[in-house]
Amino acid sequence: MIVPTTSGTSAALVTIGDELLLGDRLDTNAAWIARALSDWGFEVRLHLSVGDDEARIGWAIDEALEAGEVVVVTGGLGPTSDDRTREGVAGWLGVSIEESAELVAALEARARERGGAGLSHLNRRLAGVPAGGVPLHNSRGSAPALLFEIPPTADRSARLLALLPGVPAEMKGFMEGEVGERIRARRPADASAAVSCTVHTSGLPESVLAESVEGALPSELALKVAYRPSILGVEIRLSAEGDEAEDRLRRGAFMVEELLAPYRIDHPDGDLAATVGRALSDRGQTIAVAESCTGGLMAKRLTDIPGSSSYFLGGVVSYSDAVKSALVGVPNETLAANGAVSDEVARALAEGIRARLASDIGIGITGIAGPGGAVPGKPVGTVWFGVSSRAATRGEMVRFAGTRAEIRARAVQHALRLTLLEVTGA
Ligand code: AMP
Ligand code: MG
Repeated sequence: MIVPTTSGTSAALVTIGDELLLGDRLDTNAAWIARALSDWGFEVRLHLSVGDDEARIGWAIDEALEAGEVVVVTGGLGPTSDDRTREGVAGWLGVSIEESAELVAALEARARERGGAGLSHLNRRLAGVPAGGVPLHNSRGSAPALLFEIPPTADRSARLLALLPGVPAEMKGFMEGEVGERIRARRPADASAAVSCTVHTSGLPESVLAESVEGALPSELALKVAYRPSILGVEIRLSAEGDEAEDRLRRGAFMVEELLAPYRIDHPDGDLAATVGRALSDRGQTIAVAESCTGGLMAKRLTDIPGSSSYFLGGVVSYSDAVKSALVGVPNETLAANGAVSDEVARALAEGIRARLASDIGIGITGIAGPGGAVPGKPVGTVWFGVSSRAATRGEMVRFAGTRAEIRARAVQHALRLTLLEVTGA
């Protein structure tokens, strides 16, 4: 999907909380907000984290307002005395904190709804607004967000300062709703001057991808290409600016999608399991899995998708040889002759589960996730895959690198890719 972006509308983030600096809590808000702002076309120029300390909060907000026309702050808006963001902002603005009668009434109503005795002394703090702030109702919690329009000064333009609660679901509620709208309204009117789109891929390493993409894209399209690799694949972000940006981007995206067709994940978030699910349900086909080294992770990925009951029949975590033979029907002789991690066993797992669950597609996965368990000729990371359909059964081996968790995650992603190729006949 091609999305309009603007180049140059700057933004900055401040995340507040002692727990972030102690390493007790991962700062997921910063990553989420930075991604949202980038997707909306803002250029995030600064991210600061400070503890629950009024002076440092004031300092960080000042730095952030210097760096960004839009500043998003999370954390420290709770009811307890360790939450200091209101005080930090009031101190920095040089204003007092005023109690909003409207907020008191809303908080009292919420307390009554929940069957409480009324608004507690602590929760009453949530009605405090540094003068000049506009409170916004929190539909997922009690602490309101606070918006400030900071007037221009001699050396900087007007700023939007948004204070949001630290609870990730509440922060997202605001960013996906009213606060996000107010932020996007700060982009200049010629927002379509720059556009970007993302192509999700799986199965090719970043270097190979980059080489083929850069070889294929004509330089006159003048596209900027960025690669974001992860364990599950590589996201390619294409962007264009200036004259006929959208047309150049469309042409470039089409070329990249054609070039990478067998590796492309045709889903907005790049979820291969969702793409597999859609391919199966489009064709009215069903799938069953027999997993050894992935311990049910493929079944999990498939059933993470809403509606998967229409194509996912079930699976067996066939970890031991006994279960491989008793529940999936892998012949004991096949196990004895080839070992559990082998082409023959992977194919027998795929065929066996397909026959026993009467599915259209059967998948078998057997490998060595490590760190122990390597045998001569079968190092850690060796995984055999079996793919069985009415037409044929085939096996394939891949050696994955990484930790136990990474090998297992990569193996499932590969199995999903094999499934997609089998179902779509690509
Ligand atoms: P607060 O708004 O500071 O009271 O935080 C409420 C909850 O959200 C606490 O459990 C925090 O640990 C959590 N939280 C605060 N900031 C962040 C952040 N940047 N990323 C993830 N969780 C956070
Ligand atoms: Mg806090």
